[in-house]
Amino acid sequence: MNTRLYDAAVIGAGPAGFTMAVALASTGCRTVIAGPPFNSDPAQPDTRTTALLRGSVQLLKNIGAWDLCRQHAAPLNVIRIIDDTGRLLRAPEVAFDSAEIGDEPFGYNIPNTALVAALRARAGTMNELDFIDTAAATQIIPGTECVHVTLKEGRDFSARLVAGADGRNSLCRKAAGIKTSGWSYEQMALAFNFEHSEPHGNASNEFHRPFGPFTTVPLPDRNSSLVWVEAPDEATRLLALSDTAMAQEIEMRLQGCLGSISNVGPRAAFPLSGMKVDKYAAHRIALVGDAAHVIPPIGAQGLNLGFRDAAVLAECASVALGKGGDPGSKETLRTYNRARRKDVTSRMLAVDLLNRSLISEFVPIQAARGMGLHLLNGVGPLRRLFMREGLAPKSGLPELMQAPAIPNATS
Ligand SMILES: Cc1cc2nc3c(=O)[nH]c(=O)nc-3n(C[C@H](O)[C@H](O)[C@H](O)COP(=O)(O)OP(=O)(O)OC[C@H]3O[C@@H](n4cnc5c(N)ncnc54)[C@H](O)[C@@H]3O)c2cc1C
Repeated sequence: MNTRLYDAAVIGAGPAGFTMAVALASTGCRTVIAGPPFNSDPAQPDTRTTALLRGSVQLLKNIGAWDLCRQHAAPLNVIRIIDDTGRLLRAPEVAFDSAEIGDEPFGYNIPNTALVAALRARAGTMNELDFIDTAAATQIIPGTECVHVTLKEGRDFSARLVAGADGRNSLCRKAAGIKTSGWSYEQMALAFNFEHSEPHGNASNEFHRPFGPFTTVPLPDRNSSLVWVEAPDEATRLLALSDTAMAQEIEMRLQGCLGSISNVGPRAAFPLSGMKVDKYAAHRIALVGDAAHVIPPIGAQGLNLGFRDAAVLAECASVALGKGGDPGSKETLRTYNRARRKDVTSRMLAVDLLNRSLISEFVPIQAARGMGLHLLNGVGPLRRLFMREGLAPKSGLPELMQAPAIPNATS
């Protein structure tokens, strides 16, 4: 039997992978996505939520997936930053309100499981998209005309372009010969959801503590998600607490902010680390999501970057196909490489600096951070510029993340 040749293949069926596959298929690219079903290991449930910023929400609208996400997501209208370092030089409390920069919320917060389920449901309605449920892609061999992929079960296919969305230990990245450099922080993030007695008012609360931020982000009704960054020893202690004891710890840290806490969900811990690549694409393989960049979960940037990777790559592939060309050509990959470098590098740097400024014991750095927050608090134009910058790269968003990008798409 002949091996099937696709325009594009996506390896990895996580949030970046499914977004990539649906975006490619939306632009008319014959696409296959292959990977294990997301969140299929009951011993390690994905407890993460993602605060999807405006451009990411617009992308989901443009590719017809937002209607399936909306009921599981809560709008994010206010971001409150509270200095809880207990240090001598303390910054003022700052509140960023999305109403200052337009009618739309900053974004929407959604559990990763609900996001992937919605994307998968959308994928199921698209003729241009095949989904192969596999334990793993085990062999990825780039050639001059296409990339050959073999799955663990023995099945195989070829594609002119492969999007590697197979996470931080990406096999696609190795196959493309792309080099990485990585680093780690002496911090661990706990991520889980909980219920509270007081309404959250669509606000996120970010308590800046000596070992990292403690951030609640709204979910539908009286629920919020929590990303709690701590020193590894303390994180290990917290993980072992009973649900009741954990609820008490959260209540104490929140200083009464959301009332009494109950229904603490399953918890997971993520050691904080970073990883960057020397290029984003080579040999017909382009990296998207955590395969291309890993950053600490601070400032809700990780998957939003992954969405921008997906939107840019889908556009590059569709432009190439529109000209009757090759979506995996050197020229297409060069355009993708160029388009992603600045955005990814600047976000990685900003998140790294923010994290280090929080945990630094160096008084001048603490003073500079406090001064920055003072300025943001007091100077409206600066605050608005900061909010816009946080939402989108200076160079602007790809067309697929702007409204309306695809006529007749579900919104
Ligand atoms: C606590 C926490 C909170 C976060 N909050 C936010 C937030 O608010 N906003 C934000 O933008 N980002 C956030 N992030 C970052 C975000 O969660 C990640 O960037 C995102 O989940 C990465 O998605 P991905 O699809 O690239 O990778 P993954 O989720 O790792 O998915 C990779 C997929 O590839 C599959 N795979 C691996 N190897 C193979 C193979 N050989 N063959 C086939 N499939 C394979 C895996 O099974 C997996 O399904 C947070 C991260 C953490 C840790």
